[in-house]
Amino acid sequence: MNSTTLDLAMALLERPSLTPEDAGCLDIIAARLESLGFNLEFLPFGPVNNLWATRGTTEPVFTFAGHTDVVPVGDARAWGSDPFVPEIREGYLYGRGAADMKGSLAAMVTAIERFLSQDADYGGTISLLLTSDEEGIAADGTVKVIEELRARGQNITWCLVGEPSSRTRLGDVVRNGRRGSLNGRLMVHGVQGHVAYPAQVVNPIHLAAQALAELSNTQWDTGNEFYPPTSFQVSNIAAGTGAENVVPGSLEARFNFRFCTESTVEDLQRRTKTVLDAHNIDHRIDWHLSGDAFLTAGGELLSAVSASIRHVLDVDPQTSTGGGTSDGRFIAPIGAEVIEFGPVNATIHKVNECVATADLDRLSATYEDILSRLLRG
Ligand SMILES: [Zn+2]
Repeated sequence: MNSTTLDLAMALLERPSLTPEDAGCLDIIAARLESLGFNLEFLPFGPVNNLWATRGTTEPVFTFAGHTDVVPVGDARAWGSDPFVPEIREGYLYGRGAADMKGSLAAMVTAIERFLSQDADYGGTISLLLTSDEEGIAADGTVKVIEELRARGQNITWCLVGEPSSRTRLGDVVRNGRRGSLNGRLMVHGVQGHVAYPAQVVNPIHLAAQALAELSNTQWDTGNEFYPPTSFQVSNIAAGTGAENVVPGSLEARFNFRFCTESTVEDLQRRTKTVLDAHNIDHRIDWHLSGDAFLTAGGELLSAVSASIRHVLDVDPQTSTGGGTSDGRFIAPIGAEVIEFGPVNATIHKVNECVATADLDRLSATYEDILSRLLRG
């Protein structure tokens, strides 16, 4: 099997880029882009290296986004081969990151190489936004690069994220949005005392139990065509001194909203506070927004991606907003249409992560077709 996409994917898989390490992956990609005439900007934040590469200065701006970091291998002995020594067995390329998402990165680079070799003139800008901080806390990666681009007034028109979106065959699912994730840490203040003197205590467990029951039974919205309803889940609860005869003085609970585009962060915060106040609870909530919800309900990028998948792969793609969060949450707010399209995700984050070798070239061909539709008109 001879494939420049496969070769590049294997070169990237040899690098043990455990999040937030990049382990030299960006340098490999940057060298390829530099010889194509890209302007390279490394944008390190904290321990994380990021790359913003552009070819062109005019709009529209097409951006490939992705990450070089990978999740831990888990039990290395459970793998059929060393997770950082890429190996091909029965038509599949094995290695940590094969599907999530070094295969996509290789396909992006070779797609651009072929696209430019046909006709180096096109309308607009091709860019890549790559980070090594997606799988971890994602504090110094795409979010910071977008801040920097926003400060410069740099627009992104279309952003194709190479996350492994496909379910059973390449192209069967593309993601056109993700739910938001909002975390809350609730502190309830009561009055500690002896269990035998209920008049002299304020039991924070009793107060919180009633309020959390109401919050967990609340219908926050009914979802929409693209999203299930917003959900509220309590993930942690802690109170008590360990003694059986003491009412504790405080309680801490943690909860999470997975929310759709029918609710805003402000709505959810306000309605949560209303419930707690109605129960007369002395409390404080620390909020942490992990990612806002986003949705690309239509537009030129979704049309082009769908048309290319039909044309190159002969597959009719479904749109989905499922799954966890992705870096798309940071990119959409800059005003870009954001679509995620990449390999089959059946083995991501598992032992024996793999990608079909044939899918690497097919993905690259589809990426190239998308570039042609959008930038050659
Ligand atoms: Zn990923």
